[in-house]
Amino acid sequence: MTKKIAVLPGDGIGPEIVAEAIKVMMALQERFGLALELEQGLVGGAGYDAHGDPLPEATLALAKSADAVLLGAVGGPKWEPLPIAVRPEKGLLGLRKHLELFANLRPAQVYPQLAAASTLREEVVAGLDIMIIRELTGGIYFGQPRGVTTLPNGERQGSNTLVYSESEIRRIARVAFAIAMKRNQRVCSIDKANVLECTELWREVVVEEHRHFPEVELSHMYVDNAAMQLVRNPKQFDVMLTDNMFGDILSDEASMLTGSIGMLPSASLDANGKGMYEPIHGSAPDIAGQGVANPIATVLSVAMMLRYTLGEAAMAERVEAAVFKVLDQGLRTADIWTEGTNRVGTAQMGDAIVAALA
Ligand code: NAD
Repeated sequence: MTKKIAVLPGDGIGPEIVAEAIKVMMALQERFGLALELEQGLVGGAGYDAHGDPLPEATLALAKSADAVLLGAVGGPKWEPLPIAVRPEKGLLGLRKHLELFANLRPAQVYPQLAAASTLREEVVAGLDIMIIRELTGGIYFGQPRGVTTLPNGERQGSNTLVYSESEIRRIARVAFAIAMKRNQRVCSIDKANVLECTELWREVVVEEHRHFPEVELSHMYVDNAAMQLVRNPKQFDVMLTDNMFGDILSDEASMLTGSIGMLPSASLDANGKGMYEPIHGSAPDIAGQGVANPIATVLSVAMMLRYTLGEAAMAERVEAAVFKVLDQGLRTADIWTEGTNRVGTAQMGDAIVAALA
């Protein structure tokens, strides 16, 4: 059955990198019989410029009707003076909210060809392959009450609320265990159960949910220790399960272990496995329009889409193998270029990946 993909290039380098991902998807159709229907929409600054709205109605309708969404990036200095309600980032948040994308998957993988690009010693990160599963629609970023009030003595007081219901914890834990089953079958759940009651409940519910996944080895770690272990010995982790705020911080830390923001894809899934797929980086206005951006994070986002929403694991592996092959061939965009390798532009990298699809 043909699967409909909403393709939202966005702003800055978004259209450039998404164009390469489209080439890869077209090649999978033409050469390997994958049945996809691609339909493009405007989001972010592009949506605002055309319709005065970073998430135009037509784009939201397209995203809702599609089997999966592929997004480039949004934002840029041009739209920074706008009121927050119509800033490009609102388009992203709106999509997450309307599509109920509660599970954020962020792999941090170090390709052996790029291990020297990390700020950590090569032997610490070579072969690293972590998957961080972050709860994305609950926790302290959304909890009520929140705000800044003035106390009777005139002093201002700020507050936010860390809140998770049992069902919210259960569903994200289930995602983590199910994904661990497809990997090395280990989940480390991150909390601060020694101090925060909410995360004590988190730990209890994760343990309960673990009963349905006896093959998976479950461990728990306090978030402060996890932050330390990620730089001390990151290869000890397979799947890390986190709440919204801890995951926000730890996933950025983990991405930097790889040394290359242009290489990392991500997925945000709903309860039925529908997802939005995007590189973790932003719209890179400093290099937009120059044809030098690295399209690999976006191409690898297509691979995640094939694996997690479209059920096409073999196609996903095909794309990942093609990326591995072009790195082996010594091709590098500027962000990952080192002495002795072959510097290529965005389109050349995309073409090489297409050519390498075996
Ligand atoms: P950024 O990720 O866009 O760029 C950070 C640095 O990494 C820049 O030097 C950039 O040139 C480089 N870079 C990023 N992606 C690259 C790629 N594929 N190839 C080569 N180099 C790459 O972050 P920023 O500069 O903080 O933000 C720029 C804009 O992007 C802002 O408007 C911000 O709000 C937005 N943003 C959007 C998203 C998103 O759409 N998901 C995420 C983060 C930031």
